[in-house]
Amino acid sequence: MEKISIIVPCYNEEQVILMFYDEIKKILEQIKNKYLYELVFIDDGSKDNTLNILKELREKDENISIISFSRNFGKEAGIYAGLSNSTGDLVVLMDADLQHPPKIILEMIKGIEEGYDTVTTRRVNRKGEGVVKSAFSRLFYKIMNKIIDFELVQGAQDFRMMKRNVVDAILSLKEYNRFSKGIFSWVGFKVKYIEIENTERAAGKTKWSFKSLFKYAIEGIISFSTVPLRIFTVLGFLISFISMIATCVIIIQTLIYGKSVPGYASIITAVLFMGGIQLLSIGVIAEYISKMYMEIKNRPNYIIREKL
Ligand code: UDP
Ligand code: MG
Repeated sequence: MEKISIIVPCYNEEQVILMFYDEIKKILEQIKNKYLYELVFIDDGSKDNTLNILKELREKDENISIISFSRNFGKEAGIYAGLSNSTGDLVVLMDADLQHPPKIILEMIKGIEEGYDTVTTRRVNRKGEGVVKSAFSRLFYKIMNKIIDFELVQGAQDFRMMKRNVVDAILSLKEYNRFSKGIFSWVGFKVKYIEIENTERAAGKTKWSFKSLFKYAIEGIISFSTVPLRIFTVLGFLISFISMIATCVIIIQTLIYGKSVPGYASIITAVLFMGGIQLLSIGVIAEYISKMYMEIKNRPNYIIREKL
């Protein structure tokens, strides 16, 4: 029999984890004569009772394994740890907050049986999400898809079922700065999208603030594109060209009309403009260097405190 691994990163999810377990269990019951299963919970350094609740569940259900981090390393690290430690022929990634409806797993299995390598969901609306957040999110996908040479599908979620070969491909990308959304698309394979409505979290709070989402977006762009660096090369050329023309104009003007004193405005604008561009370009370069710095250190993505 084939085995399904279900990977669930959890950070402070004491309010929903039992609800989640009940729901997923119902689904697993329905497929139990076709598939074996394991539930891999990643406790991402939760500060609440999540780990204890998981341990209690594990006493009753031998198909549960728990990886507990030494501190909060973020969901990306959780995903990576889950993928590295799963043994199933099929691997499912899903959130603990029931925003990823477990019943979709049945449809995902169908997709895999149809011959797809990955089945994932795409939300068709953003119900229950702020207007500003949605607008920025759309802008992010627009920019991203302009500058990368594979496609990031708007609204695609981390909720997915993958065959073992896809998981191995994902794990073969050893980078430290892991922008999973990008990595999942980058590896390719035959992907089926199931469209679903946005569901709100069953209980508890989202761990994403606007600030962390913004950081995540920058991370995504830096991880998968060097276009921002090139922008400044182009801009540099452009500005040099314009200033060459300006120089010629000034020389000719001086030859024809003689010396002129005015020019304060144009000088100060040029100086400020150049200063701004230079600072900005140094900032962009610094973003890349800081990422390289982190990569070179070659630190592990997470540290395990306890593995059950
Ligand atoms: N999560 C995690 N580590 C973190 C933040 C979140 O493992 O540092 C988990 C969280 O427990 C949940 C999933 O990642 O299972 C998605 O988090 P959340 O619901 O806060 O994000 P949203 O659904 O709002 O994008
Ligand atoms: Mg959520």
